Amino acid sequence: MTKKTKEPTLDFTTNWAYEPAPEDTKHITLKKQYDLFINGEFVKPNSKKYFATYNPATEEKIAEIAEADEKDVDKAVKAARKAFEKWSKISAQERGKYIYRIARLMQERAREFAVIETMDGGKPIRESRDIDVPLAANHFFYYAGWADKLEYAFPGRTPKPLGVAGQIIPWNFPLLMAAWKIAPALATGNTVVLKPAETTSLTALKLAELIRDSGLPEGVVNIVTGAGKTGAAIVNHPDINKIAFTGSTDVGKIIQKAIAGTDKKLTLELGGKAANIIFEDAPIDQAVEGIVNGIFFNQGHVCCAGSRLFVQESVADIVIRKLKDRMETLIVGNPLDKNTDIGAINSKEQLSKINKYIKIGIAEGAEIYQSSCAIPGKGNFCKPTLFLNASQSHRVVQEEIFGPVLTIQTFRTIEEVIEKANNIPYGLSAGVWTDKGSKIFNLTSKLRAGVVWANTYNKFDPTSPFGGYKESGFGREGGLHGLMPYLKF
Ligand code: ADP
Repeated sequence: MTKKTKEPTLDFTTNWAYEPAPEDTKHITLKKQYDLFINGEFVKPNSKKYFATYNPATEEKIAEIAEADEKDVDKAVKAARKAFEKWSKISAQERGKYIYRIARLMQERAREFAVIETMDGGKPIRESRDIDVPLAANHFFYYAGWADKLEYAFPGRTPKPLGVAGQIIPWNFPLLMAAWKIAPALATGNTVVLKPAETTSLTALKLAELIRDSGLPEGVVNIVTGAGKTGAAIVNHPDINKIAFTGSTDVGKIIQKAIAGTDKKLTLELGGKAANIIFEDAPIDQAVEGIVNGIFFNQGHVCCAGSRLFVQESVADIVIRKLKDRMETLIVGNPLDKNTDIGAINSKEQLSKINKYIKIGIAEGAEIYQSSCAIPGKGNFCKPTLFLNASQSHRVVQEEIFGPVLTIQTFRTIEEVIEKANNIPYGLSAGVWTDKGSKIFNLTSKLRAGVVWANTYNKFDPTSPFGGYKESGFGREGGLHGLMPYLKF
């Protein structure tokens, strides 16, 4: 007779003997209700109000999140100010050690972060597991390294921290954006009040738990949750020295107006409408993969998404045929399934915005093509969509859709494509596919885009600066450049 052994039920956040598949959510430790993280502890919101966060793939409520009002924000800023006095004075090497510790803890809890990111935001688990979470940890590792090297980074100058940084982030890369913001701020000796987006607060709150566990001195990082009003309370707080914002161009403009006349420093990373340009001498199959990755990565909820495709006329037919074939193979559905390519649209509001643009595109006369895949009956899903024969003046070409919708235009000459690529209010990113290095150099100098990828797309690295021109904002995040917005000289 075989003896029945009890299956070990280990919490994988602390014990790595048990490694669940990423789609296994049983061992995720989520609370029913999340409070604000202020001065090193979780505290109830002044208003006692909470709002729900939903899984966009199942429409199920996951947890309740505290809504911070002006009083809570004030408490967080005061904690950050007090912490700044000590944090800015401890040795830079010591500061670096704390940041390394955060990075290591994030690596250890990577799976938990990945599953929660996917449950709360809708992105495919393959992306949160292989891209978002490792990259977020890498940002902490990278900026930890800079903490005690600032004098080498800026020789002959004496860099000093600004003080308290107010940081407001969007819902498309919740953990990664938190890392982009917090890591350079800490490395340069600033303290932080961060607000995640209202539909995706969970990984930021998990990060708060991790920060508490890391032993980072209390008040150095404070995380307050809520929607636009909470964000505005951070922006308008008189004791904030710097605002770092990533989000829509509309809100970016409101913030810029709100702080006009104050001495707050500002960086804005806003919308985009990137040109992904395929020349006839490009490696076509790789380019098709680049188009797919450019627009369908993270359901197209990417400010630097390659949402405008430009194909040279001589190869347009073959590129479009191969693109349609490839789209047929994309799996749209359960974000927790590791075979899924396109997950859930982040919210009902975003889905209706995308659907509104699909109607606009049809009414404008562009030819619509959607893959024939099935999409789940429940949840927020959208089929991968193309608009063929789009014109430069179409709204679907000019405006950011932030969904899996690609417009396609053709071109004959390099001058024509440069003119069309730049003829847009945005200037965040672009992609160029060609066999000729000279063409790449020629284009990169003429495209008004902060990031230009050559024969690849949507590649991110902590060492590379990222940011835009025109209505895509100003200031750079990432790399050495990403330190500067947090320093005065
Ligand atoms: P999206 O359109 O992608 O949702 P938003 O710009 O509306 O982007 O949101 C990005 C972040 O800005 C979110 O955290 C949101 O809560 C916050 N936010 C929205 N309105 C304001 C505002 N008036 N001031 C400050 N932050 C805001």
